Amino acid sequence: MLKIFNSLSRKIEEFVPINHGKVGMYACGPTVYDFPHIGHGRKYVNDDVLRRVLEVVEGYQVTHVQNITDVGHLVSDADEGEDKLEKGAEMTGKTVWQVAEQFMDYFLKEMDSLNILRPNVQCKATDNIPEQIGLIQKIMENGYAYDTPEAVYFEVTKFADYGQLFGQSLEDKLVGVRGEVVTENSKKNPADFALWFKRVGKFAQHAMHWESPWGDGFPGWHIECSAMSMKYLGEQIDIHTGGEDHLSIHHPNEIAQSEAATGKRPFVKYWFHSLFLAVDGKKMSKSLGNVYKVADVVEKGFSPMALRYYYLSAHYRKQMNFSWEGMEGVSNSYKKLKKEFLALRLEGGQDKNIFGPSADESLTGRGKFFRDEFVNAVEDDMNMSAAIAVARAVLKDEKLKDFEKRRLVENFDRVFGLKLSERDEIPADIPAEVMEMVNKREEMRKSKQWAESDALRKEIEDKGYKVSDFFDGVTVEKI
Ligand code: AMP
Ligand code: ZN
Repeated sequence: MLKIFNSLSRKIEEFVPINHGKVGMYACGPTVYDFPHIGHGRKYVNDDVLRRVLEVVEGYQVTHVQNITDVGHLVSDADEGEDKLEKGAEMTGKTVWQVAEQFMDYFLKEMDSLNILRPNVQCKATDNIPEQIGLIQKIMENGYAYDTPEAVYFEVTKFADYGQLFGQSLEDKLVGVRGEVVTENSKKNPADFALWFKRVGKFAQHAMHWESPWGDGFPGWHIECSAMSMKYLGEQIDIHTGGEDHLSIHHPNEIAQSEAATGKRPFVKYWFHSLFLAVDGKKMSKSLGNVYKVADVVEKGFSPMALRYYYLSAHYRKQMNFSWEGMEGVSNSYKKLKKEFLALRLEGGQDKNIFGPSADESLTGRGKFFRDEFVNAVEDDMNMSAAIAVARAVLKDEKLKDFEKRRLVENFDRVFGLKLSERDEIPADIPAEVMEMVNKREEMRKSKQWAESDALRKEIEDKGYKVSDFFDGVTVEKI
């Protein structure tokens, strides 16, 4: 049985979904006003691995919903500061709508490149404005919100637990709020948060706006996640994910407004938070010039799968530190793992499922031992580095046959998502002349002209390239 840390109880708990056999999982998506970075990659790979564990190992039918925040919201999580999308528009000379579209496309491509399964539903905040308005109406009817000339606010003191959620005190939050630049404000309590902003005062020119019972304006940021998770997954959901930055404001606000609207508790049964990724021990920031995209990692010659491997080596509840030296090291271990895997003899049938009640039970006793070790590792609060160690042990084992090794590791990779069985494309920077020699040598190998093919390998090496043979093809790399 899967055991997972629930940030709400701050304990490791056994995972039991609300409805038998099914899991509803909602992930806070990106704000699409800038390029995603490798910190986003970490968070969404962790979500993806959780989803894969639930589907592949635990056998659940998962509905994974992720939002796209394309309504401008503020640079800080609280209600003050600059609008992120408008800032993005200013930077690029485009409209806020174009900015959102462009960065959403970019985000999807980056996530695809990390082999993250696309969520079953990806919903934009701007496509769900009536749902957000409807939810705010319910909250108001239930007496948890008040209307002011500048905004509709949620009244946090009406929600008894607000101050204790995720172990954060209301006092801590108030200190945070006070530290920000407060301009106009008709809040009853500084910790109250906006459900609907009116297009007045500093927002008089706000580019995105809609009609509502409270006048022309736009939704506060937090309400979109409550509205969309309920729309697609119901009023109570199994898992909600996010980065650690959401523990203090965004997620307590989501809980407060959702439970205030429906009266049902808990809004979310398990909260799953990923810790942040830092670069060279420092927070990523534009001023330090250390905000890297997945594309920057690829440009330096690393495979996105090596980056994914880097993510898997750090537990989701620990800070992860990225460095170029670290990247070099994990890239080498990833290549080694893949090479060992691809060198195994292919015999067919190795892709048969080995997990859960529908597992094909033809594994040997030793095979079952390794399978169980893998399952124990992933079920132990997703200990992925231990799970990778099991894959390595399988490949090194002297008693298992190639066939069974391949079958085990191919199944493990349904959780890792490291594309171990996909032969890498030949890198684009191999000169045509060398490629011609490689192809010629392949033909010789096929017609068993071993001496000639060996001579050609030597010639290719003299040109500075190394060819490695596998049962079903070759790879070429620069020496
Ligand atoms: P944002 O677009 O800033 O709202 O971020 C989208 C998601 O990525 C949120 O769940 C954040 O918590 C998460 N995130 C942002 N920066 C990092 C980082 N450096 N490391 C890990 N996760 C992050
Ligand atoms: Zn959210």
